[in-house]
Amino acid sequence: MKNKLFIIIIFLFILVIPFDAKAETIAQKRKEIATLKANYQAQQNKKKNAQNNIKTDEQSIKNKESEINTNQQKLTEAENESERLTKEIEEGKKELTNVMEAYQVASGDNVYLEYVFEATSYEDLVYRYAIMEQVMSYMNDKIDSYKDKIKKNEELKVYITNREAELNNQISSLNSEIESLYDDISKYDRYANDIQSDIKDAEGFLNYMVNLGCKDSEELSACQARVNSTNNIGWTKPLVKGKITSYFGYRISPITGRSEGHSGTDIGGNSEGTPVYAIASGTVCKIIRKASCGGNQVYVCSYVNGKKYTACYMHLLNINVSLYQTVYTNTVVGTVGGGSGTRGWETCSTGAHLHLGLGTGWYGSDYTTYTSWKSHLVDARTTIGLPKMGVWWYSRY
Ligand SMILES: [Zn+2]
Repeated sequence: MKNKLFIIIIFLFILVIPFDAKAETIAQKRKEIATLKANYQAQQNKKKNAQNNIKTDEQSIKNKESEINTNQQKLTEAENESERLTKEIEEGKKELTNVMEAYQVASGDNVYLEYVFEATSYEDLVYRYAIMEQVMSYMNDKIDSYKDKIKKNEELKVYITNREAELNNQISSLNSEIESLYDDISKYDRYANDIQSDIKDAEGFLNYMVNLGCKDSEELSACQARVNSTNNIGWTKPLVKGKITSYFGYRISPITGRSEGHSGTDIGGNSEGTPVYAIASGTVCKIIRKASCGGNQVYVCSYVNGKKYTACYMHLLNINVSLYQTVYTNTVVGTVGGGSGTRGWETCSTGAHLHLGLGTGWYGSDYTTYTSWKSHLVDARTTIGLPKMGVWWYSRY
């Protein structure tokens, strides 16, 4: 039952999304960009909050660590004090014992009274006895108060030990909180980067559509088709001069030595850096940079003689256009590469040349994979009208 529902939901998505995407207008694109920007801002705000939380947590850790330090100092002081008081109690007890011994001697045997107290008279003895009692009571009080203080220090030690464990627990949970906040921040950053590149793409596309003269409520792909068909002045050659060095179709590969399909027409006779022009007006619909086989590649979607085409320029040394840019037949899309200048990344070219591919339909909207682009390939030489292999031309028209 759940599976069925899931399948129905997926099916609805498949049904709904493409229709919605196809019906997109400039106004909707603007809304989409505004939503993306709001989302980007939201990520930035989340990041800022996380950063503030990290600061607060770090301050809190510092405070707790300084409390631990202070407590340690207090503990040491308390321990020193207890040690000192314990010694004093011992000394006090000794003194008391002495006094007690004297008292016992005094009360037990009169003969020793004079000797012990060195009293000169009975009055003097009574006086001395009273003093002795005061001394004993004072000493006892002092010992009691010292014992009290030591007991308090023991309590303080227990408190500080417990408190330290508690603070260390809090610090370690704050540290893991900080760690997860950093994780969150990198998540927000990644997401924000994705959104930013979506915004860039969408804005590029929007500018392109606005420059084409599409109206706010006009359906975008209809507008693109309309404009491309009116702008089009037919095919031109991609290079001012050149000659075909390898045909489209099956051939012996210069790389593998085996017979294999060649996805385009190779044009030689130009050094690296020579400008490559668009063979028809249209839109840059895909850019691939520094592929290990094919190198820098520009795909231009055009509308020629009532049909959709995608032209592909491969092995470029430089790319001179950006995605969704409008190009005309006088637009330089890039420069010839494939020789020493592109050897750093390119492994599928043996020397400077332009590989010109041509397919029907629009790469990026009618199909989105390289495999389906290849299944749409046609022979550029016969389609746009280039001379036979080895025959030079010296004009683009
Ligand atoms: Zn080629």
